[in-house]
Amino acid sequence: MKFNAPRGTNDILPPETLKWQYIEKKTHELFSNYNYQEIRTPIFEYTELFQRGIGEVTDIVEKEMYTFEDKGNRSITLRPEGTASVIRSFLENKIYGQAQPTKYYYIGPMFRYERPQSGRFRQFHQLGVEAIASNDPALDAEIISLGIRLLQNFGLDNLEVHLNSVGCKDCRPDYVEKLKKYLIENKDQLCDNCKSRIERNPLRVLDCKNKSCKTVINDAPKITNNLCDNCAEHFEDVQNYLDVLDLEYIINPLLVRGLDYYTNTAFEIKDNALGAQDTVFGGGRYNGLAEEIGNRDLPGIGFALGIERLLLSLEAKGIELPVESGVDLYITVIGEKAKIESFKLLDKLRNEGFRTEMDYLDRGVGSQMKSADRMNAEYTIIIGEDELNNNSATIRNMKSGDEKEIQLSNLLEEMKKLVDKEAV
Ligand code: ATP
Ligand code: MG
Repeated sequence: MKFNAPRGTNDILPPETLKWQYIEKKTHELFSNYNYQEIRTPIFEYTELFQRGIGEVTDIVEKEMYTFEDKGNRSITLRPEGTASVIRSFLENKIYGQAQPTKYYYIGPMFRYERPQSGRFRQFHQLGVEAIASNDPALDAEIISLGIRLLQNFGLDNLEVHLNSVGCKDCRPDYVEKLKKYLIENKDQLCDNCKSRIERNPLRVLDCKNKSCKTVINDAPKITNNLCDNCAEHFEDVQNYLDVLDLEYIINPLLVRGLDYYTNTAFEIKDNALGAQDTVFGGGRYNGLAEEIGNRDLPGIGFALGIERLLLSLEAKGIELPVESGVDLYITVIGEKAKIESFKLLDKLRNEGFRTEMDYLDRGVGSQMKSADRMNAEYTIIIGEDELNNNSATIRNMKSGDEKEIQLSNLLEEMKKLVDKEAV
């Protein structure tokens, strides 16, 4: 019998997990500067939440959800994204009764039944933000710049910001009619998939990657020329706020989100080095979502960033995150008595914040030293019966080879002198 992890999932092993911890730590720090607070919602929800909150005619709901019946015959779905759950929670817990806006972020696994490939998995991880209960275009700019700033903190620059407005329930229906008419006129040149989308969700045709569809799409009526006054003003304000932050963007009228509750701002941040899956994060306004799932008129905006894509982007650019594995001190022991004494010392050192290790396989001194090397130990010390009897041992700097004779009873004090604990 041999078990493999399910297709499209990954084991994240050390030292890779250090990168994840680093990303999470930086995220907590930065998001806190922007006054976003962490929210943790369940990994699964009732299926209907996603059917309504993502939309029946989306790829996610049509073909990508992990849906099953639980033992109480309820239909349950592993969350494919975070926004629907956050808004559900906001409404359920009546957060709207508190001071607004509410600014949340989340980090965690998402599940989509997709064809696994580079940058596309069935269990993947997103970190996302949602700013709820304000329609201020400054928040749209804040959210985009927050995502960019986070990536910059990891050393990622030169990402493309694609920006669009998808209008609102007042102006979009007219645009959709115009688009439909145009698509029907050019139906012959569209792929079969797009032909079937004309009636169901014509906006989705705009992001078809098919070559022949693309030619049709390029000359299609543009949503940016069909915005109502309110939406045009909002769009302009978002751009002004981005200009204030010196944040460059490309207006891309083909960038759409297909559903009625998406309004105004839509954006995607792309890294050309990533190939086909080039979007590191994307998002937009969803002023109609709370109405859809909770009959409440509440604006919102957010983004979701794929952590695996972020890591791929770093890899493509050869950027190493400043993570460090290893121990401060490895104690090499000779004999049972020394082992017991060392075990005590380890406990004391660890309690004081030193990363320390010893041998648990009864190996000889040579093998223990090899282990210390493999562990990237900064210092080693050899403790045997002689050292115990004389209260004296040699501590060795593994990099420089420098050695120093110390009193064993002073090991903790010596380590404090040798290792800058702030940097640990
Ligand atoms: P894509 O066009 O790449 O399928 P999407 O529009 O489905 O992306 P969103 O639902 O907006 O993506 O999710 C936000 C981010 O989450 C994406 O920009 C991407 O970084 C990441 N992401 C989405 N799906 C996956 C997946 N299957 N595997 C890994 N990361 C993903
Ligand atoms: Mg997708």
